[in-house]
Amino acid sequence: MSHLRRGKRKVYFASIADPSTHRHIMPISVIDLYRDVLPKTNCRDCGFPTCLAFAGKVISEKFPLEKCPHISPELLERTTRVLEEQYASGKWLKKDPAQDALKWARERASSMELEDIADRIGATVRRNGNEVFLELPYFAGRLIITKDSIKSEDGSELNRWEQVFLYNHMAQGGSSDPRGKWKALEELPNTVSKVKSMQEQVEEPLVQCFEQAYDDALANLEKIGGKKTDDAGVDCDFAYLLRPLPKIPVMLLYWRGDRKEGLEPRVKLLFDETIQEHLDIESIIFLSERIRELICGQQKPT
Ligand code: SF4
Repeated sequence: MSHLRRGKRKVYFASIADPSTHRHIMPISVIDLYRDVLPKTNCRDCGFPTCLAFAGKVISEKFPLEKCPHISPELLERTTRVLEEQYASGKWLKKDPAQDALKWARERASSMELEDIADRIGATVRRNGNEVFLELPYFAGRLIITKDSIKSEDGSELNRWEQVFLYNHMAQGGSSDPRGKWKALEELPNTVSKVKSMQEQVEEPLVQCFEQAYDDALANLEKIGGKKTDDAGVDCDFAYLLRPLPKIPVMLLYWRGDRKEGLEPRVKLLFDETIQEHLDIESIIFLSERIRELICGQQKPT
């Protein structure tokens, strides 16, 4: 095996980075990088406590190799070339579930023409020269949907899970308007497996938010377009109607409770009976969690 020498150490993958050898390009592992390229002094100049930790970040998360200032320019260039090929092939890169899901959801929606989707999801078709885009009401704001992107009207990126949710909504295929018949998740077909998630990840945390910061939670609820309503047809302390998407209204019911009397406070989300035409069960849970985040003032990871 041909090799370079770096001090007294052999650099075994050097030949594969050298096009003149015409040899098969082998990927660099964390150990290869640590053993053959890094100085192993654990000096911390890269911001990591050890050279091995740094090597792990470079291989699995594309952390820039040049952040180690103690690699000779020639070795840095040669190694970077191999790493670029390795990254392109996805070898040893940490899986990014949000990216994978977004790719899948985009592909699912990409075969549809925006004009054909508009009516179905309650969006408006707009044109900018030859470019067609959709304007879609979303909570209290608007989204701009082009062939390649979904952004807020101020141009800011939505987080990737939110984009997956919206692409799935676009691809779902339902066209009914809401009928005003409200159902709890457990009253909808095939939702048994998600009822616990709804309670534990949405309704119980919302109860805590209202108990700990009632005014803030109410202000947030109104900020995202919630309107108080007397049309819930249920005896509760208050009901708010939300319209996260044009075809998808959500009703939030709140009971203050009285613990001294043994009455626990409660929150319940209700959905129009047509919701499953527009969202699959995972997306209903995503939307409910998003509502919880917005009311409780939390942010979702990108
Ligand atoms: S700067 Fe280089 S030598 Fe120092 S700890 Fe990081 S990888 Fe190791």
